[in-house]
Amino acid sequence: MADFDAIVVGSGCAGPAAAYELAKAGRSVLVVERGNYCGAKNVSGGRLYTHALRAVFPDFKESAPLERRIVRERISMLSPDAATTLDVSDELMADERYESYSVLRARFDPWLVGRAEEAGAEFINGIAVETLLKQDGRVTGVRAGEDEITADIVLLCDGVNSLLVPQAVGADRPTPHEVAVGIKQVIALPEKVISDRALCADGDGMAWLFVGDATHGRVGGGFLYTNRDTISIGLVATVADLVDAETPIYQMLEDFKRHPSLAPILAGGTVVEHSGHLVAEGGYDAMPPLVADGVLLAGESAMMCVNAGYTVRGMDFALAAGQQAGRSAALALEAGDTSAAGLAGYRQALEDSFVLRDLRTLRRFPRFMEDTPRLFTDYPVLARDAMRELFLMDGTPQQPLRKAVLPLVKRVGLLKLAKDLRNGMRAL
Ligand SMILES: Cc1cc2nc3c(=O)[nH]c(=O)nc-3n(C[C@H](O)[C@H](O)[C@H](O)COP(=O)(O)OP(=O)(O)OC[C@H]3O[C@@H](n4cnc5c(N)ncnc54)[C@H](O)[C@@H]3O)c2cc1C
Repeated sequence: MADFDAIVVGSGCAGPAAAYELAKAGRSVLVVERGNYCGAKNVSGGRLYTHALRAVFPDFKESAPLERRIVRERISMLSPDAATTLDVSDELMADERYESYSVLRARFDPWLVGRAEEAGAEFINGIAVETLLKQDGRVTGVRAGEDEITADIVLLCDGVNSLLVPQAVGADRPTPHEVAVGIKQVIALPEKVISDRALCADGDGMAWLFVGDATHGRVGGGFLYTNRDTISIGLVATVADLVDAETPIYQMLEDFKRHPSLAPILAGGTVVEHSGHLVAEGGYDAMPPLVADGVLLAGESAMMCVNAGYTVRGMDFALAAGQQAGRSAALALEAGDTSAAGLAGYRQALEDSFVLRDLRTLRRFPRFMEDTPRLFTDYPVLARDAMRELFLMDGTPQQPLRKAVLPLVKRVGLLKLAKDLRNGMRAL
């Protein structure tokens, strides 16, 4: 007899959601987390769309450590000396159906763990699973150092940098084109100052994404999220494009913070946290098989994350996939069949949800970003120069806008612009 019905490896977003479902179904479940406490190793920008959280914990608002409800969206194209910004506020952002909140993982992850523990799941921290135990090709447990623990089913929720996925399903490790590196700082400021600078009421906040000079023209972008009394700011850049960059990413972040559009928002703040992490970027086409005999994958271990330029989403995918993985594992245990065939309902459940549908819809986007370097170089400058034609007056007689803008467009190339627009529309 196995030591546990189920072992979950990794306690980020997917792991506790899976463990919660299994424990709720009356199953013995052990979560093994390599961090000394849950959340210690985890990084997010962190804007969480709460639809997936509500599906797991309908009462989440009573106790979840949410920072600010996001009611203002900004997207900026940055050139070194200017920002061209789309600024959106919409009452529907506060509607429960569409709500999103900024979160800090060091607070949020322990809360998720608490909910799973209340349901009966057990957690051990500070232990990295090194290998999967297998018998006749079937996963039967985990090994960490000298210790072996067995289970009827193992759920891999160990994130983007999983060393276990290749052992579990025979998939290759992600290539440098399929992962980005994320770097982030948390900057403390008084609560009221943040509300004022983000033009938001107390308790409400802003999400702001950047393309262009944020990553010195490299494939990627910047983000800023307002928390209650801190601001999360950072960069995400594709590893394959970053390797030959002249400027290291930590310096890009310092330059980004000094950009004229950002410096006033951060002025007077104190850096209280600095972190870095990989992000899955390959999308649907980079996903490994989701099940094999005795094992299921959920969250970023299965590349469930989308960076669509205007938004980064991984936490809602991980929560939803963790929930479905936990439910499917419980059903398979009940039926006494945890083979790949017995777990086939998991993929179907994800096909029926937003998880695989959204990943499929956006499957072309990672490639589009990599194939369109102009997004990060020429277009922010084009946008800046077009805006200069609109807004700068020095008494020189103005030209009709079309005459002023056409040479700017020709500088990039009319055909190239049309092609990029068409490809961008197709990728979204
Ligand atoms: C800079 C940055 C910005 C982001 N911004 C956003 C955002 O704004 N919104 C959003 O929704 N998503 C965002 N994401 C993505 C999001 O953080 C991830 O998609 C999400 O955390 C994935 O959840 P997960 O549970 O699959 O993995 P993780 O949260 O990474 O958790 C995996 C866990 O497994 C543990 N682990 C790994 N290997 C082992 C092992 N061998 N043994 C034991 N434990 C192990 C790790 O310590 C970790 O705790 C961002 C990511 C980054 C890096």
